Amino acid sequence: MQTSIPIALATPPAFTGPLPPAVDVAVIGGGVAGVMIAHFLAERGQSVLLCEKGRIAGEQSGRNWGWIRQQGRDPAELPIMVEAMGHWRAFAQRLGAEALGFRQAGVMYLADGPDDLSAFEAWLPHARANGVDTQLLSRAEMQALLPAKGAWPGALWTASDARAEPFLAVPALARMAQAAGATIREDCAVRALDVAAGRVAGIVTEAGRVACDRAVLAGGAWSALFARAHGVALPQLSVRATCAATEPMPEVFAGGAADGRFAFRRRQDGGYSIAAGGAHDFWIGPDAFRALPKYLPQIRRDISSTRFRPAAPRGYPDAWTTPRRWNADAVSPFETCRILDPAPNMDFLAEVQAAFASAFPALGRPKLARAWAGMIDVMPDTVPVLDESPLQGLYLATGLSGHGFGIGPGIGRVMADLVTGKPPGHDLARFRYGRFFDGTKMDLGPAL
Ligand SMILES: Cc1cc2nc3c(=O)[nH]c(=O)nc-3n(C[C@H](O)[C@H](O)[C@H](O)COP(=O)(O)OP(=O)(O)OC[C@H]3O[C@@H](n4cnc5c(N)ncnc54)[C@H](O)[C@@H]3O)c2cc1C
Repeated sequence: MQTSIPIALATPPAFTGPLPPAVDVAVIGGGVAGVMIAHFLAERGQSVLLCEKGRIAGEQSGRNWGWIRQQGRDPAELPIMVEAMGHWRAFAQRLGAEALGFRQAGVMYLADGPDDLSAFEAWLPHARANGVDTQLLSRAEMQALLPAKGAWPGALWTASDARAEPFLAVPALARMAQAAGATIREDCAVRALDVAAGRVAGIVTEAGRVACDRAVLAGGAWSALFARAHGVALPQLSVRATCAATEPMPEVFAGGAADGRFAFRRRQDGGYSIAAGGAHDFWIGPDAFRALPKYLPQIRRDISSTRFRPAAPRGYPDAWTTPRRWNADAVSPFETCRILDPAPNMDFLAEVQAAFASAFPALGRPKLARAWAGMIDVMPDTVPVLDESPLQGLYLATGLSGHGFGIGPGIGRVMADLVTGKPPGHDLARFRYGRFFDGTKMDLGPAL
């Protein structure tokens, strides 16, 4: 069995070349958010440079389950997600569905009991208000779609939800952004911002300075470390989530499904991506102590799915030894750890293999072809920050909280308009930076 994903430092960078001396906008981070922001900025005629310290999609965006899900979203995210689904369809037409692994094969939430069914029912008005085809299924209706063994009394089902292959899709989208005119560089950490007269005047990368008057921080789990060094506090933490790809097996379901114990999704290569529902590991570091009061509601809700661990591996954003200040002329923490590549939690995976085998006895215990983990960046209310920061010219597109892959294209379009002073087209009040500091009551979005 292979551990980790196919995107690694051992693969030569695909996006190389000299840096431009100046651009309109710099984008920090080459996950789905940064790639899509760069794409839409380039389409709007802006000169844009995207810097990625490791490889495009080397972190979360190449490690996720690949669910492109409208179902169950926070109501404020849903209109952006519905828009994102339209972008995914258009990209699949432009690039070929296979290049992205894109297929609208549906997403199903299996109810573990009557409480789940009530919660599913309560979400239906949001679906209706946004024109999404979500349905509450009886047990018989559910079993007609998903021939699995289990005591689920019903399910929530959205036939128009989709799947894609993260480590194919995001590099393909980056090539599309490049074709639209964006300059993309891998192995290119942004060490700091160049700030003059209280506003962004450029970025300082490991390969030199680039002038710009706007920068978008889309750094995933590294965003808080980067922002804090410029006096912008961001109460962001990260958790380790484990996933695996099985060897090829017969297709029993073409979409994605989950209950409280396990989640799975059919893959383009004939296997399934499987994972332990919402279970994750949390390494405690200095940021965790700092942000603790803001996270109490989330901790109370998710305590049974969180395994607390004393210290993150060396070099991780919230490791005890990671420097919080550094000199822009010297190697920064972003170069010390170019790709966050946590070891998978094999205990979680053993439970998932057992759950999968009990749901599909005819298929038996799935053999794993590959296992990996990713560090999911989280905000206290589990919805992103999409806003300009208090530092003029620095925009934030981060904290996607475990569901940023599917919505990524919508975030890209929204941020491109925000950065260029155009109306973003959706109500972004829920995603304000200031909500963590102005006394706003934390309103928890759906669980990770
Ligand atoms: C196991 C797992 C399962 C998930 N399942 C789903 C799912 O099914 N559906 C869904 O919608 N979402 C899912 N998610 C969440 C989703 O993957 C993330 O929300 C999304 O990929 C975040 O994208 P991003 O671009 O914000 O961050 P990332 O993908 O983490 O990208 C940030 C990038 O910024 C780079 N960077 C950081 N700092 C710097 C710097 N200073 N200079 C240069 N580069 C820098 C990093 O190297 C990194 O590549 C899952 C996540 C995981 C880990």
